[in-house]
Amino acid sequence: MVSFFDLTQEELKNWLLNNNFNIVHSKQCFRNIYNLNLPPWNELASGLPLGLEQAIRDHFSFTDLSLDSFLISKDGSTKFLFKLTDGNFIESVAIPESKRITVCISSQVGCRQGCKFCATSKLGLKRSLTTSEIVSQVWMIKQWIQTQSSHPFLALKHLPLSNIVFMGMGEPLDNIDNVYKAINIFIDEFGFNFSLKRISLSTAGYIPGLLRMIDLIPNLPIAISLHEVDDTRRATIMPIAKKYSIDEILKAIEKIESVTKNEVLIQYVLIKDFNDSFDHARKLASLLKGRRVKINLIPFNENSFCDFKTVEESHMIEFSKILFSHGFRVMIRFSKGADISGACGQLSAKKTL
Ligand code: SF4
Repeated sequence: MVSFFDLTQEELKNWLLNNNFNIVHSKQCFRNIYNLNLPPWNELASGLPLGLEQAIRDHFSFTDLSLDSFLISKDGSTKFLFKLTDGNFIESVAIPESKRITVCISSQVGCRQGCKFCATSKLGLKRSLTTSEIVSQVWMIKQWIQTQSSHPFLALKHLPLSNIVFMGMGEPLDNIDNVYKAINIFIDEFGFNFSLKRISLSTAGYIPGLLRMIDLIPNLPIAISLHEVDDTRRATIMPIAKKYSIDEILKAIEKIESVTKNEVLIQYVLIKDFNDSFDHARKLASLLKGRRVKINLIPFNENSFCDFKTVEESHMIEFSKILFSHGFRVMIRFSKGADISGACGQLSAKKTL
């Protein structure tokens, strides 16, 4: 059976045409499922001809995920462990902020990129997610939030789930076709209707994928995980650096600057005694000089998979001051959900919840 969540609205229109239905019904189908977030199926029938309702019911399945378990952090972040139909597991995280909820979603089961500081990398790559499995994460979490009655989210229930970040398990550009389709479903005005500027894709620096994605969606906000200013040292923690140099990353940033006004987000995880010296800060400033970027400093989140240590807050602040003094916009992201292993670099889809 085909999953409804695999289809963009254009593809649904084709299906309607091929099955002798009026394509005008695609909007109503999308609105019911994604915008009103109605559970299939009874309500989907509203506004649809009876024959179409039956045909959709016969032809499509819906979410491919089942919620296995969840953990709630003391900061309100919630990590979800989803089971896929083939028995694999993935994780997603809902992060409440002052005015909104951001969902961090996965694009693959595991990852082939092998970043040394990342728990996901220890799984290796099992497979990429389908469009439906990517879309389902947001759909399931949206529904879950609305049905809670005793959870920190209760107070936040009226906050919009407005932001999506592709920063969960996997390198999204290694699964570019399905990620691209999922983004199209997320921003469809009759679907979830997310603003494109509230979706962010994070890459370890897979340059061919990045250049292709810039061609496909020029205004998609991009975050690049840099983490080191020297290619050789960067390759010791990010094997992808052996293939794609920092120079190529800078050229890709130039290309982004030429097609959009967006600032690229440069992510820099501070690892104690590895990339956290003030000399590193000065070199980072020099490397990015003149680029339209903002810099996101992230304290390394310690995990049981590697020996790296995190940096002290006061040191991060001093590091950031050097970047500020060179005119950069700098954010320090104190990761949420670290106590439930739901923070940056900690997702491992281990069934320990
Ligand atoms: S940091 Fe991202 S790209 Fe690197 S191994 Fe982890 S999931 Fe993959």
